[in-house]
Amino acid sequence: MEDLLKTVANILRSSKNAVVLTGAGISAESGIPTFRGTNGLWKKYRAEDLATPFAFQRNPRLVWEWYAWRMDLISKAKPNPAHITLAEMEKEGIIKAVITQNVDGLHFRAGSKNVIELHGNIWRIKCVNCNWKTVLNSPPSQIPPICEKCGGLMRPDVVWFHEPLPQDALHEAFKLAAQSDVMLIIGTSGVVQPAASLPLITREHGGTLIEINVTDTPLTPICQYTLRGKAGEILPKIHKHLKNTD
Ligand code: NAD
Ligand code: ZN
Repeated sequence: MEDLLKTVANILRSSKNAVVLTGAGISAESGIPTFRGTNGLWKKYRAEDLATPFAFQRNPRLVWEWYAWRMDLISKAKPNPAHITLAEMEKEGIIKAVITQNVDGLHFRAGSKNVIELHGNIWRIKCVNCNWKTVLNSPPSQIPPICEKCGGLMRPDVVWFHEPLPQDALHEAFKLAAQSDVMLIIGTSGVVQPAASLPLITREHGGTLIEINVTDTPLTPICQYTLRGKAGEILPKIHKHLKNTD
């Protein structure tokens, strides 16, 4: 493992355009449940049955109760050593950007600047009727929240299953993936499209893929390097090796 960490640090050090793709797993050590794997359930519901436009149409209150619960967890959570190490690596010029599927905003709170949020941000909400947007800093006091402009229903401005991704973010992510010579893939199950295709783009352009995850994923077979373990433990170790040039 020590040798592998050293090799990965050397690859990052000599890279010109390293980018990072993160998923829910990077925030697991901050106490925010992932969608898949253990702790993936809220009450008796699966995320796939709540994070959809149909679920919201059928029962906005239920969907909002779930979001209010997640907002509460996120507001109490702190960036963990994985988020913090990525922010430091950006400052040091080792990584150029973080493309995230997370909606928790923890990369920004850790100090990362160039963050592409593919799936939106849980604190931004928008009206389903007139599209008016606003930003919250705590769970809404009234559930479901109502639009101040038109009285319509407000929803979280996140990407639900069966919905398209924001065009600008998607375009930027594909551009970064094509340009990058190294992609670090951290804590993503690699099954949510189109985010899961980004590593393929990098690989097709000759880039090196490095995965950090507690388990194998569908992306594992295309990664040249796989680091098994928790992101909050592995990233600080890589960072330490980056500083030693032995
Ligand atoms: P996912 O829930 O499908 O998968 C999480 C992955 O993280 C798994 O592969 C798991 O093995 C791995 N993992 C768990 N703990 C880890 C750790 N400590 N270190 C490294 N890896 C770890 O998540 P996904 O791939 O991001 O896709 C699900 C969708 O859910 C995304 O669209 C995302 O928007 C959303 N989501 C976001 C949050 C968040 O913002 N924090 C939380 C849950 C889900
Ligand atoms: Zn409105």
